[in-house]
Amino acid sequence: MLIDKHGREVNYLRVSVTERCNFRCQYCMPEKPFSWVPQENLLSYEELFEFIKVSIDQGINKVRITGGEPLLRTGLDDFVRMIADYKPGIDLALTTNGYLLEETALKLKNAGLKRINISLDSLKPEVAHHIAQKDVLEKVIRGIKLAASVGLKIKINTVPMKDINDGEIIDLLEYCRENNYPIRFIEYMENTHANDLKGLKSDEIKNIISSKYNFKHIQSDDPSSPTTSYQLDNGYVFGIIEPHKDDFCKTCNRIRLTAEGFLIPCLYFEDAMSIKDAIKDKDIAKATAILKEVLANKPEKNKWSEGEEETSTRAFYETGG
Ligand code: SAM
Repeated sequence: MLIDKHGREVNYLRVSVTERCNFRCQYCMPEKPFSWVPQENLLSYEELFEFIKVSIDQGINKVRITGGEPLLRTGLDDFVRMIADYKPGIDLALTTNGYLLEETALKLKNAGLKRINISLDSLKPEVAHHIAQKDVLEKVIRGIKLAASVGLKIKINTVPMKDINDGEIIDLLEYCRENNYPIRFIEYMENTHANDLKGLKSDEIKNIISSKYNFKHIQSDDPSSPTTSYQLDNGYVFGIIEPHKDDFCKTCNRIRLTAEGFLIPCLYFEDAMSIKDAIKDKDIAKATAILKEVLANKPEKNKWSEGEEETSTRAFYETGG
């Protein structure tokens, strides 16, 4: 079991397989970064897998593949298969913008993937285009449908932004309820890479939903989930991820590995340690020691919370969100 210095059990590893993305979302990567990390600096799937094995052996039981856009990296199904075969019962999930799901969902399912979180910020083609700076909506919707039809469990992630998609919160909620996809509204996390925009806080999101629906707060299925769950009178459950709330970090159970091999203890801060040399040298003892050191240095909380309201310099496309 992995315990950090604040007594939190860490059992969840998010692995970014690329920082590259085919969207330029306003809140994440509105401009292509000055330069991409050269491909030769990335760890191969085999190398990433070596570290995942170390983590699983130490107590990680949930792995999420993310990015950038993870479906841009070829052979992702082989990577999924490596992890699924190593620990068949593992909770193995993917976060994607959905654009390439049409081409990949079946292969990923057959490789052992169980769950997919898909970013969907608008149901209006022109608004989706404005957010992603690309005409994406139709293809994303086809990808979501196909992924559901092959048996992948779907969750939708939406970042509500003032004067951009805040008029669609109820439409998105209803679309997800009709299709039986849980939706989670994620409060925009201020970061220096994003465009100048204002995200909606959870109270504002709830106010909008309460204009049409009664709902009550319910306990989340997973107590370490960052999602606060609510249930409509008709039984549908939606969630809000509230990084600006003080208790957001209290149950944080996650660490993040970048495609270059940096192990990151907290989404907000720049701190990281590289496991690259240890993995390239096949030095499992060293990789394990780095994992434990990162846990020993995991910050107690981020600085987005009320009263602090700071802006992170961390790029979400590097850390995988
Ligand atoms: N490309 C994939 C996608 O679009 O889901 C995976 C990577 S993306 C960085 C992972 C998640 O981070 C997405 O759900 C996205 O909405 C969220 N995200 C990115 N930047 C964010 C920000 N500034 N505030 C809140 N959520 C953000």
